[in-house]
Parts: sequence; C-alpha cells; structure tokens
Amino acid sequence: MNRTITSIVPTHTVKEGGGFSVRRPVAMGRLMSPFLLLDEMGPVVYGPGEAIGAPSHPHRGFETVTYLLEGNMCHADSAGNNGDINPGDVQWMTAGRGVIHSELPQDELLQNGGRVHGFQIWVNLPAKDKMMMPRYQDIPSANIPFVESESGDVWAKVIAGKALGVEAVIDTVIPITYIHLRLQPGAAYVHPCDHDHNMMLYTFGGSMSVEGRRLEDGSLGLLSNGRSFSLVAGDEGAECLILGGPGLDEPIARYGPFVMNTREEIVQAINDYNNGELA
Ligand code: MN
Repeated sequence: MNRTITSIVPTHTVKEGGGFSVRRPVAMGRLMSPFLLLDEMGPVVYGPGEAIGAPSHPHRGFETVTYLLEGNMCHADSAGNNGDINPGDVQWMTAGRGVIHSELPQDELLQNGGRVHGFQIWVNLPAKDKMMMPRYQDIPSANIPFVESESGDVWAKVIAGKALGVEAVIDTVIPITYIHLRLQPGAAYVHPCDHDHNMMLYTFGGSMSVEGRRLEDGSLGLLSNGRSFSLVAGDEGAECLILGGPGLDEPIARYGPFVMNTREEIVQAINDYNNGELA
C-alpha cells in the first residue's frame, strides 16, 4: 500500500551557531528517528562583514550532514581536517566519539557578503556506534550522482540511498535516504522504500501533495509505513528533501552538541570535553 502523510510539522525560525537564522521543524521527537534535527539555513543575503557561522564547538554520538545550495563554508577540526564546502557539496561528518570543529563562511563571503542557503541535518547513531572513530566524507558536487526522469520533469540528487535507479556514493552507518528532489509543475514521482523505515518529506519551495494531502513550503510531512509513496508537484512546481532511515528504538540523552543514550554518558562527554580528551 502507498504511504500517506500522517502528520505535518510546521517550521519556526530560530538562531543557531553564531546567530544565523534557520527554519526548523518543531518538536519532531521519536517520529523523526533516526534524525535528530533538520535545519534549513537561509536563504539569506548577507551584506559585507555580516556572514555568520558556528565557531569552534564539540559533537559526540551522532552525525552532522551539511548540504549547501548557495554560499559557502570552511570547516576545520581538532583532528587536523579542514576544507571548503561550496554550492552542491555535501559534508557527511560522523562525530562518533568526538570532534571539535568550526563551520564558518569563507573569507570572500565574509568580506563581500552574498546569499547563503543550505541544510544541516543531524543523524543519530545506534548505541553500538556512538563511540566509533570520527569519519569525514567531503563530497564535491561533481561526485554526487543526480538523475532526471525520462520525461525530464523530475530531477533528483542522490546524497544517500537511491532514486530513479541511481545509487548514492556516500557510505552511511545505518541505511539512510537523503534525496534532493526538484519537480516541474504537476510532475509526479514515485519513491520505493523499505516498508519499516521512517520516511519524511521537507518542502522548501512550491508545494506538493501525497495521496491528496498537500504539503506547503517550509513544512515537514511524516509518512505512514509502506513500500512506496507518490508525490505530485503543485502548479508552481516543488522542491523537497526526502529523508528516511530505520527508527532507532533506544533512549536518547541529549545535551547541546552531545547525543547519547544515558545521562551518565552525557556527563562523561562533558568531562571528556573539559579535560581535552574529546578531540
Ligand atoms: Mn557542528
């Protein structure tokens, strides 16, 4: 049976990092598992000297995934990794046992200003993998597969998982689906998926509907279980993310940038960070 939308989560705008604005779906909780957070950064136009990022901060116990559409970022971390993220690029960072990193606008963007638009999602790790060694997958846009439907009215960038027969190149700890979809007005798309995975759609342009229920710009639709779902773009077309993965049926202990299973593990993470052992 085709999946339907079981609930629609609206977004609100909050300040993150050094004070940049993000659109964030409200109170997603366990229904969103294995995802912990979905932030749409911007779109925002910064003037010269205005661009803001997230200076040095730690993470432990999950993954942060950054996907930029416009603007840029440079990142650096305690393990000595550093690099740029440019439009279309994805950085899939598995924090595991811990990293301290910064995510900042590149000098040119800071000096001259410019438009920034992108996403950061947080993917939880199962208890057995929370203390794995940190891992980076910095994938430039040119290496991320995309595909167009035969009729040319659906475009899909396959960041994780599979769409229109094309498979992602990024390796995930648990099977994750992360697809960026762009649909022409009235275009239809069918997505086959694992029956039990939690699947959700985040619309960030235009609107679309699933089995007759409409999903407006800036809203997250949670889907029922099933082997596939069909979506149809509205009159103005649609742009969305398809996110999915197995729900993790484990307790969540969360404190700022640390996401573990118990309060003791959070205390340990804070102590490790304060003792300089997290890096
Ligand atoms: Mn971070």
